[in-house]
Amino acid sequence: MAEIRFDDRVAVITGAGGGLGRAYALLLGSRGAKVVVNDLGGSVDGVGGDNTPAQSVVDEIKAAGGEAVPNYDSVSDWESAQKIVQTAVDSFGKIDILINNAGILRDKSLQKMSIEDYELVRSVHLDGTFFCTKAAFPHMREASYGRIVSTASGTGVYGNFGQTNYGAAKMGIVGLTNCVKQEGFKYNILANVIVPQAGTRMTATVLPPNVVEKLKPEYVAPIVGWMASEGCDVTGMLFMAGAGYFSRSAIVEGPGIFLDPETSPSMEDVAAQIETIKSLEGGREYGSVTEQSAYVFSKMKFD
Ligand code: NAD
Repeated sequence: MAEIRFDDRVAVITGAGGGLGRAYALLLGSRGAKVVVNDLGGSVDGVGGDNTPAQSVVDEIKAAGGEAVPNYDSVSDWESAQKIVQTAVDSFGKIDILINNAGILRDKSLQKMSIEDYELVRSVHLDGTFFCTKAAFPHMREASYGRIVSTASGTGVYGNFGQTNYGAAKMGIVGLTNCVKQEGFKYNILANVIVPQAGTRMTATVLPPNVVEKLKPEYVAPIVGWMASEGCDVTGMLFMAGAGYFSRSAIVEGPGIFLDPETSPSMEDVAAQIETIKSLEGGREYGSVTEQSAYVFSKMKFD
């Protein structure tokens, strides 16, 4: 297998001053990419700011012989998200790769969660991914080339106690990607999602130290790098990675049943068939809502 390289490619990686983003930035930088290392430098719960994290990752990339510039703007505001992308255009003339990775946490049970905790988490993850993607998209469309990797979470895909804000935002990113894949495909813009598991400052408070040690961010980076590479040939996919585990997750719809609408099916009819309705046996993925509707329409009786 030939070495995967990023020579002449320009990558913007948000939240790359530490944790997973840093690992992605170092990997792409070491393979020839020109990297914009974005990081606001705030706390895990989204307070404050510091230029040091982004600058130090830039220094690391340069010390290893790579090219990088820092950017300290927030992803969660439309004006500043545009500045992040503009940094790539001003410094390196274009943007080929966008890795939406910046994130914060404000965990609370639904009962105790403040509206501010909800809005702040949504704004960094979901709004931030939307804003950066929207800012990058016209440049990628113009160049007929783009690789977008956005970050979801097992919390969104499967659920977790005390993270309704985070889970909602993270699954929103999956919905956003499902639509970006439609709009980007004919311009060779591929959009995929990583669901990482890594020992970082974000998880260090909830995972035991020996587990954190085994979950190095570097173990997630190879599949993110592949999704960001020219050789990536999939779009709209969701990949899980951590501790050497690599897998794909997907939304699968069961074949269901068709009850004749002319007979006005009742709640009792649904209850009687619920095991068949629930079954995923013979289920499949759909590439778009149009495809899914085509299946339903194919079963409809027309006069
Ligand atoms: P981290 O805290 O080390 O990294 C997140 C980075 O984002 C920080 O450096 C932070 O300063 C930056 N950031 C926060 N708000 C920002 C903003 N508004 N603009 C720009 N930068 C901002 O945590 P991490 O574990 O490396 O997380 C990276 C991503 O992976 C996050 O989106 C996180 O939700 C996701 N994730 C992580 C795990 C895990 O196991 N670590 C699991 C699932 C999802």
